[in-house]
Amino acid sequence: MLAKTLNDIQPILIVAFIILFGVLETFAANVQAVPGRGRHFRRGLVLALSSFSIFALTGLFSALTMDWAETHRFGLVRNLPIPAYAKIALGIPLIDLAGYFLHRAWHRVPWIWRLHRVHHNDPTPDVTTSLRFHPLDLVLQFPVQALVLAVLGVPVLSAAVYFTLSLPLLFSQHANVRWNPRFDRFARIFISSPGYHRMHHSSVRSETDSNFADVFPLWDRLFGTYRTPKEVRDVRYGIDGFEEEDAHRFRTVMLSPFRRV
Ligand SMILES: [Zn+2]
Repeated sequence: MLAKTLNDIQPILIVAFIILFGVLETFAANVQAVPGRGRHFRRGLVLALSSFSIFALTGLFSALTMDWAETHRFGLVRNLPIPAYAKIALGIPLIDLAGYFLHRAWHRVPWIWRLHRVHHNDPTPDVTTSLRFHPLDLVLQFPVQALVLAVLGVPVLSAAVYFTLSLPLLFSQHANVRWNPRFDRFARIFISSPGYHRMHHSSVRSETDSNFADVFPLWDRLFGTYRTPKEVRDVRYGIDGFEEEDAHRFRTVMLSPFRRV
């Protein structure tokens, strides 16, 4: 019941956070006003809508997979001899850990990286970058993630809590909003703060291949992919070869995985 309620409010939260951070970007932008911000925002929203529609399709597959695993008591955590609340609590960091390794694979496997780099090739990240994904990236990502979580036996409620609570973090990580640097340095001890995640959007490949964790930076520290974030303003964002304005038209972005760059 709670899981369903949380899943149902996610689309409303997504729209609310786009509006909230869009407004904050207007009044408290971190990087100086981006030239052509209106066009950038509109293009970002069109891309976001395309990922939304894919999410609706693959989300159904994910939900059915997770429900099947729960009904059949399938998977690792579900069969541990621990109380139900402990399984729910354990499921939350496990989802993030699975996401960490999937994200590394998405950077490592060349043909998947060509899809995932759409999320990275924006030279001026803003709130819309949070949902900037190539549809084929999500067609692959959500079902693979659902299968991994089913095998791990992550409770449905853990997934609902994790994906709802991580939404404000997702949007704050990408939004072009000025945060207090001291607050960011403190926050990144525990969570992937905006400064922490923005390093992952650097155009320097060794920096792009760092700070993979969605929520808990602990994974990067444990598995050797932690990079101390630079000042947000000192990072050059995007990917070489995608600097031109035309590279970010909807059609060009859709075809970009098949381009030689
Ligand atoms: Zn990435």
